[in-house]
Amino acid sequence: MLIVMKPTATQSEIDRVMEIVETLGFRPHAMPGASRTAIGITGNKGAVDRAHFENLPGVADAIRVTKPYKLVSKDLRPERSVIKVGDSEIGGEKLAMIAGPCAVESPEQVFQVAEVVAGSGAKFFRGGAFKPRTSPYAFQGKGEDGLKVLAEVRDQFGLNIVTEAMDEHGVDLVEKYGDCIQIGARNMQNFSLLKYVGQTRKPILLKRGLSATLDEFLLAAEYVMSEGNYDVILCERGVRSFGTHARNTLDLSIVPALHKLSHLPVIVDPSHGTGRNYMVDPLARAAVAVGADGLIIEVHPCPEEALCDGAQALLPGQFIELFEQVQAIRNVLQPAEETVALQV
Ligand code: PEP
Ligand code: MN
Repeated sequence: MLIVMKPTATQSEIDRVMEIVETLGFRPHAMPGASRTAIGITGNKGAVDRAHFENLPGVADAIRVTKPYKLVSKDLRPERSVIKVGDSEIGGEKLAMIAGPCAVESPEQVFQVAEVVAGSGAKFFRGGAFKPRTSPYAFQGKGEDGLKVLAEVRDQFGLNIVTEAMDEHGVDLVEKYGDCIQIGARNMQNFSLLKYVGQTRKPILLKRGLSATLDEFLLAAEYVMSEGNYDVILCERGVRSFGTHARNTLDLSIVPALHKLSHLPVIVDPSHGTGRNYMVDPLARAAVAVGADGLIIEVHPCPEEALCDGAQALLPGQFIELFEQVQAIRNVLQPAEETVALQV
């Protein structure tokens, strides 16, 4: 059930609906929008009786939700969500660029990349301190020491930190040092972890599972939101398929498909999506052309020495050039303010 309030509804009318939902033993989720607030109801096993709400002051409509997900849906919030991450945002007018190495290896390596990323005008820095590696013998990440290096990057360069947590302890640490908690592809259906990050107040970057369908992806986001954390950013990072020419198959068609159904921002990871340095640029450009709200790109000062994912890392110079190109593409799709002003 979804309660749509009238554009003129007062806060006390909204509060009254929330109270009734709670009295019924369910959880209300108020989503303020540009023209009206809608209140999603979760926790109900069967249909909720519309009669509880339809005649209340300020209520425009009580709608039964037929899709498997509620809170991620555009029915709840028709306009796109803009998610605040640190002192910047993802999903707004500007293309969000998150860049940095796959893994934190050393302070020198991290600062070298951070200087380039900050100089490019990007607002977000990535780097894993907890690495989900296929082999238990591969480099697993620097843990808390790595997070401390990332926190220094924020202090020195003003970049907002996006970094992965793989378990509840990691979430507590990333909450302390970072600005955005990344849930990796392998954990997209770790439902207890999703519920746990749903109780934090940090934005969540949720990566699509290795073979997740669109519904599974949206339901994973729904897990986070149903716990009260509405700040979720979806990330397409390629899925497993039969080809061997690339590490994964980057599914760019999911960008408009997600935007059609959901108000959440959608970003694309062409680094993991392709696994090959020479494919990152063209797929990044394509991702922006299909309407992605942002990109997450791996950059390393010396890819041949990288402890993780060197084959897909861009060199700093390649990254700077790419960022300029994708911003130009974005401006074609959504003219920059000055361009609009000139046409008037
Ligand atoms: C990463 O971003 O470094 C990573 C491990 O990504 P994914 O979960 O998409 O494989
Ligand atoms: Mn990586």
